[in-house]
Amino acid sequence: MTDDITTDLACKELVEIITDYLEGTLPERDRARFDAHILTCPPCREYVAEMHATLRLTGRLTVESISPGARDDLLRALRRMKASSTEL
Ligand SMILES: [Zn+2]
Repeated sequence: MTDDITTDLACKELVEIITDYLEGTLPERDRARFDAHILTCPPCREYVAEMHATLRLTGRLTVESISPGARDDLLRALRRMKASSTEL
């Protein structure tokens, strides 16, 4: 059984570490995986851009500032995309 989660960041994982990424506290290794992921995943890229805008507006980003609704929307969009392309 191959486990490419160690190399490829999962969309769900990205949602969990986005605050660390934007705050600059994400370890270099994870940061590289994060960057690689958003290059190949448009929904996540949009999500990150949105969070960047939030950070610029408020000056700080907390877990609370990420609305559960936006998070659900993203994960739903990702699931739809995955279903129409490749199976996990
Ligand atoms: Zn993604």
